[in-house]
Amino acid sequence: MVTLADLQVATLGEPRLDSPLASYVEGRSTNQYYVAEGDRILMDDTQALVESRQVPWEELPTFEAGGPRARIFFDPARTKAAVVTCGGLCPGLNNVIRSLVRALDDHYGVSDVVGFRNGYAGLDPATGLEPVALTRDYVADIHERGGTVLGSSRGARDVGVMVDTLVHHGIDILFVVGGDGSMRGAHVISEECRRRGLEIAVVGVPKTIDNDIPHIGQSFGFQTAFARAAQSITAAKVEAQAAVNGVGIVQTMGRHAGFIACYSALAAQTANFVLIPEVPFTLDGENGLLAHLRRRVADRGYAVVVVAEGVGPHLQEGAGDATDASGNAILGDPGRYLRDRIRADFAEHGEEATLRFFDPGYLIRSVPADPADAVYCSRLAQTAVHAAMSGRTDMVVGRRRHRFVNVPIGAVVQRSHNVSPDGDLWLSVLESTAQPRSMV
Ligand code: ATP
Ligand code: MG
Repeated sequence: MVTLADLQVATLGEPRLDSPLASYVEGRSTNQYYVAEGDRILMDDTQALVESRQVPWEELPTFEAGGPRARIFFDPARTKAAVVTCGGLCPGLNNVIRSLVRALDDHYGVSDVVGFRNGYAGLDPATGLEPVALTRDYVADIHERGGTVLGSSRGARDVGVMVDTLVHHGIDILFVVGGDGSMRGAHVISEECRRRGLEIAVVGVPKTIDNDIPHIGQSFGFQTAFARAAQSITAAKVEAQAAVNGVGIVQTMGRHAGFIACYSALAAQTANFVLIPEVPFTLDGENGLLAHLRRRVADRGYAVVVVAEGVGPHLQEGAGDATDASGNAILGDPGRYLRDRIRADFAEHGEEATLRFFDPGYLIRSVPADPADAVYCSRLAQTAVHAAMSGRTDMVVGRRRHRFVNVPIGAVVQRSHNVSPDGDLWLSVLESTAQPRSMV
């Protein structure tokens, strides 16, 4: 269970300098914009949860409020910042990069910002990748494009070498935009900085298209991702409906968490079966997916199945045993496997099914952020800049209860955020699909 101590953000030292925000908001008092140092946001959201803690209210787990502070740690005139993007693509990466650069300059007058290229590889001189200067001009239009202008990569790098690179380039603040692996990397980098007594702040903007990082609320890019996935579900329905015994299969992203599958299915309102890693199911037998699917097609003439990429281990023995350069499991191809099994199953029963398979994964990852995500990216980046300038480190930004929050990296990498099979989201999915509560 998470305690208040787990949610205490580390700092490099006392923030002694006045924030230059005063001159930014000309002629007006800026006090109303500052967040009080002790402002915190409750983690528990029900009375029953609070009572079950059985601790005095001041010991309840709370998140530190994010936002601008009246006192800052770094002297803007002598501060150099860097940005790195790691892991898979996600809508909004360029929005985050742009807003980091703009917030540093607009709010604090920090204009010396560089971008390390191709993820942590850019922090290893052996790769020969020189950092790029992130000027206002350089970032002016990048939010209109998907992907990341800095490039990305997977694969381990020596932490000592990476910290040497930060020192070599005179970096005071490192912003890491990446997934769970990248945040583990950021944690290791900040630990090494502390061990060497270096005053370098490491602040993360967590990126997970799957929405599987805990404590940060919804992750940026997630809304864009499920909106696009929903379009594929609608297309799958149109195709399936027009075919004889049509079965449309949409494989969504979601390595360990089925949020995209659930939200896109709820958005499209046309899926008949949603398969996610958190809810086991079988294919064969009276209560297996194949039997239910045959009945549905017999009744209505077509069916739509949404399957998260991470359900492989439910389907195929050995799926998930292979790993990529960062040690992440390669999860096989459950959608195509399902397609072949469904076709074979109809044939076994003397019928022919028309299968239509959609895999919008890479298309979704690479699109620009929708407006809601664009706003969110921008504000997360601003929160990250405020946190870093005030000397906070080894932390990420998130949003809880309509407030931006600062959360220690240690808390967000401890476990993953998943769809609860007993929760209201899954219940909504069951209600909207009318699929059986259990298919095991
Ligand atoms: P996503 O999985 O969402 O695409 P990610 O950040 O989890 O993003 P990874 O490829 O797992 O993607 O990791 C990104 C970088 O972080 C890689 O360079 C990897 O070597 C590094 N990394 C991962 N785990 C650790 C760790 N425990 N310690 C240090 N570095 C790590
Ligand atoms: Mg990951």
